[in-house]
Amino acid sequence: MSPDTALELKDVSASYGRFRALSRVSLRVASGSALSLIGPNGAGKSTIARVATGLVPVTAGRVLVQGVDVTGWPPYRIARLGVAHLPEGRSIFASLNIEDNLLLAFGRGAGRRQMRAAIDRAYEEFPRLKARRWQIAGTLSGGEQRMLALAKVLAVPPALLVVDELSLGLAPRVVGEVMEILRLIRESGTALLMIEQQVQRAAMVSDDVAVLRKGEVVWTGPIAELTAPGRDHGLVIPATTTG
Ligand code: ATP
Repeated sequence: MSPDTALELKDVSASYGRFRALSRVSLRVASGSALSLIGPNGAGKSTIARVATGLVPVTAGRVLVQGVDVTGWPPYRIARLGVAHLPEGRSIFASLNIEDNLLLAFGRGAGRRQMRAAIDRAYEEFPRLKARRWQIAGTLSGGEQRMLALAKVLAVPPALLVVDELSLGLAPRVVGEVMEILRLIRESGTALLMIEQQVQRAAMVSDDVAVLRKGEVVWTGPIAELTAPGRDHGLVIPATTTG
């Protein structure tokens, strides 16, 4: 148990029915640091995100959040320890406008004035959302929708943010913006567990990387080692992670 650790998986296995998706996975995200998971499709990256947030139960091993053993806890209890999850996809109410999305995210337990202040802060951080505040969220661009999803998550700054393929399908310029937001979130003290198909994109935010294949961690280390020319550690990195 270590209070300087945001997330730790110790020998974790997990299954969907009879299919074993993770085998004895161990990894650690230090408080305030960022770890990226990379690997081919089906390697188990999203399953790690679901295990960390309690959406998928482990069949063996332990999950620790902020030094607390949360193995077997339901998602809402893990969330109370300061864990936020941005799953693959958009995590927004597509038929509502931006302002109403933020009102719903920020409204829980807050007074009117606090809620207004929180929304104004979000608009300062995401000026593009402010300019489109009355636009129906489902009609925003992919990048704007991800920014809205991030703004909602940041209503209550989490200790650990789990993000699944935030940059998927975005134009390169928008990817840069979204990664910059993640970097700022990290600098403000939030630890990140991020799933990212491309090593170069992961390196914009992360210090460390865990490479997965067929439900196992096959390499962990500083991301700089993976991106250095001529060093592949004998790993077969899928083509999608090197572009
Ligand atoms: P991708 O990059 O394609 O999202 P991934 O590395 O995130 O892949 P996971 O989504 O964790 O991989 O899936 C790991 C394995 O578990 C895959 O073989 C997948 O088919 C299987 N799997 C995932 N979700 C389920 C589910 N709900 N029911 C059954 N099998 C599942």
